[in-house]
Amino acid sequence: MAETCDVIVVGAGYIGCAVGCHLAMAGLRTALIERGEIAAGASRANYGNVQAQDAELAYSLPLTLAGLARFPELQAQLGAPIGYRRLGSLLLIETEAQWRTMQARVPVLRAAGIAAEIVPADHLGEIEPLLDRRVVLGACYHPHEGQINPFGLLWAYVQRGRAHGLRVHTQTPVLGLRVEHGRVTGVQTARGVWSAGAVVLTTGAWTNLLGQQIGRTWPIQHVRGQALVTEASALRLNNHIASAAFFEDIENSAGEAVLAISQTAHGHFLLGEAARPDPALGHDAPPADLRAIARVATRFFPALRPLCALRTWAAPVASTPDGLPCLGPVADLPGLFIATAFKSTVIVTPIVGELMTDLILGRPTAIDVSAFRPDRKVNHHAHPA
Ligand SMILES: Cc1cc2nc3c(=O)[nH]c(=O)nc-3n(C[C@H](O)[C@H](O)[C@H](O)COP(=O)(O)OP(=O)(O)OC[C@H]3O[C@@H](n4cnc5c(N)ncnc54)[C@H](O)[C@@H]3O)c2cc1C
Repeated sequence: MAETCDVIVVGAGYIGCAVGCHLAMAGLRTALIERGEIAAGASRANYGNVQAQDAELAYSLPLTLAGLARFPELQAQLGAPIGYRRLGSLLLIETEAQWRTMQARVPVLRAAGIAAEIVPADHLGEIEPLLDRRVVLGACYHPHEGQINPFGLLWAYVQRGRAHGLRVHTQTPVLGLRVEHGRVTGVQTARGVWSAGAVVLTTGAWTNLLGQQIGRTWPIQHVRGQALVTEASALRLNNHIASAAFFEDIENSAGEAVLAISQTAHGHFLLGEAARPDPALGHDAPPADLRAIARVATRFFPALRPLCALRTWAAPVASTPDGLPCLGPVADLPGLFIATAFKSTVIVTPIVGELMTDLILGRPTAIDVSAFRPDRKVNHHAHPA
């Protein structure tokens, strides 16, 4: 089987599904090609939090803000349930250094229009009653965030795209990029060569595997994100919660997991994620890591101790050393675009679909994305803000 179309999007996670949908809505003949099923990569592993809390401050706030603004109307626009609900978030502070880091972020976030404040431990009881306030100094509180149902959102994009002619091909690994006369003209799949005017890589942690075949390496690394889900409970979290330690050098931190805890709309607690470098790109969640996750979560939330874990999982999550995504055309290789390694992917998903459509159609983008060009020079020791 071979196909010719205007655009091929490789990888059907959040970003690929949104990009494919927006391209199809713009009238472009678009194929979305995925080697597994929809959400075979990191997008099957996440909590669905629409989070501004960890935004990179130097260049990414316009992207984060524009994404956040799309969510209240997104369900109506996509015409399918995405389970959106408003939530706040807390970044828990345990050390003076973390307090200073959080304190430095607050005015920058506020100036950009993202509500944030430092709340001392004594006042956290009203905001998050389940938290053991004795183990924290305080928290950075972001009251206006949210949560969606991950599979609901992905499926809504796929269905909406299909209604506009998007062709979705699952179980179709892309084996390589086709380059002719210095431009990318399609992809080689297990089912033959597919031609297109443009190819978009939304392949997350696997992007460099395709790049390396044409002599390109982009500043994309990955960690193994891990999680477990508990039985449903009548206990309630008011916010999604992470540790301010996420802003420290987690990769070099020894031993303990770094807290990230959320609750689904149905009452299941999601506990994760020990984000460790993992060259293997694997889906294994070692039992020792999962025990560490449970230990850390119950240190902050002792009331969860009696709950049983139902299921565990892991997935490779793409990131970059400078905390900026790769979003835009590939220099000197016309026809090739990349959109991956967003610091928080869910919040930017709706706006990235729009931006990539503008880039491919050669239209000016509503947000300046030049800082995100995939071929930028990156200091590999940089620590993201
Ligand atoms: C436990 C956990 C919790 C998280 N919680 C949140 C959260 O609450 N909010 C948030 O914003 N983020 C969260 N994340 C991170 C988030 O899940 C990822 O950033 C996001 O899913 C990345 O989406 P993506 O579309 O860029 O990439 P992926 O979802 O990884 O999609 C890439 C796709 O490309 C496909 N692919 C790769 N190579 C090929 C090929 N050669 N041919 C065809 N297809 C290919 C893969 O199979 C995959 O489906 C969490 C992550 C974890 C692990």
